[in-house]
Amino acid sequence: MSLSLIAKSIKASPTLKLNEKFAILKEKGDPVIHLGGGEPKSKAPMDAMLATIAHVNTGEVRYAPADGIPALKQAVIRYTEEFYERKVKPENVIASSGAKQAIMVALQAVLNPQEEVLFPAPYWVSYPDMARLIGAIPVAALPEDGSFYPDIKDISSRVGSYTKAIIINSPNNPTGAMYSADFIAEIVEFCEKKDIWLIMDDIYHRLIFDGKKPINVFKFAKKLDDNSKIIVINGVSKQYAMTGYRIGWAVGNKKVIEAMANIQGHQTSGPSVLLQKAAVGAINGIQSGVESLRTTLENNRNVMIDLLRSFEGIKVHKPDGTFYCFADFSAYMKDSNKLSEFLIDKVQVLTVPGKEFGLDGHLRLSYCGTIKDIQEGIERMKWALDPNSPNELYIGDRKLVRDWA
Ligand code: PMP
Repeated sequence: MSLSLIAKSIKASPTLKLNEKFAILKEKGDPVIHLGGGEPKSKAPMDAMLATIAHVNTGEVRYAPADGIPALKQAVIRYTEEFYERKVKPENVIASSGAKQAIMVALQAVLNPQEEVLFPAPYWVSYPDMARLIGAIPVAALPEDGSFYPDIKDISSRVGSYTKAIIINSPNNPTGAMYSADFIAEIVEFCEKKDIWLIMDDIYHRLIFDGKKPINVFKFAKKLDDNSKIIVINGVSKQYAMTGYRIGWAVGNKKVIEAMANIQGHQTSGPSVLLQKAAVGAINGIQSGVESLRTTLENNRNVMIDLLRSFEGIKVHKPDGTFYCFADFSAYMKDSNKLSEFLIDKVQVLTVPGKEFGLDGHLRLSYCGTIKDIQEGIERMKWALDPNSPNELYIGDRKLVRDWA
């Protein structure tokens, strides 16, 4: 079939594919455990639900402006003041259908075909394909010291005359690593010196542990005028457990925001007004849900890390935030796709192969589910991988027998 070159260069989102697989297995009644998920299990804030219902009840759900409704822009302006100590104007804000679309239209607004966008590895699965979607070239920068914390040389050594933008995601999906304020300061200085766009993907910035505080990228900027090339991305999906609402936003200089709005206007128009109202409810409403999600995740992280540390052969770094941990399973199997398949086949535990994030030999394990799932999931993985495990394992009343070495 004569599909376009771009269509042929893109593959399905592996994390979304995994969610479909989970739904199919669950439907069949299989005792599957999802350690590959990317969404909190808590409920959306009451203020978000009430705001949506109130608007539905008006019976008039119309088109929204391409760049977002004024109330959401005001809520984002207040959010930006609170977390970034910066007073922006409505023309500096665009609301999109998820942080994903906000990043996508930002890339479309600043990159030409064949230009490069650089990001540290391991990276969020969508960045490379988002770049390919616009004919641009993704460049991943794996830290040389083997850690999950890049330093400025890891980045600067891969920047060339084609580099147009850098994406920084901290805390990071999939590693949970939160980069230091010093590193962010160096990146800002570097991008300003080289005149490169800096896209800060801050979607997990409040979901951080061990007393850490969110980092404000604008604090390090020397140029905060209409020519500033910093674009901050955020959204309601993770912090408010509102993944299905599909509302994200970007804050940037007014010219780039206008370009993004023009692109979005032809792509999808503005995000659904109903869901924007819900986002306003969440952002302006009672915030206790964010803290309770954060503490639950911190506790879940501790449980998962303790279990993984008692798992012989596994190397694991303690995440500073998010709800992911990226563990090195190469002692058992170097090919993470095969390992992930093996775990689904043998013990019905879903994990995401590290290869999808730019580092094979690893698995991304999520701790956004229940403690029971974390414990049982890792127990099953241990049973499947450890050659000294007993021959049988019971999952409910099903008996599994090891028929592999
Ligand atoms: N950035 C990162 C790093 C993410 O992990 C995700 C969601 N998995 C997004 C952006 C997109 O979030 P949204 O649901 O708002 O589109």
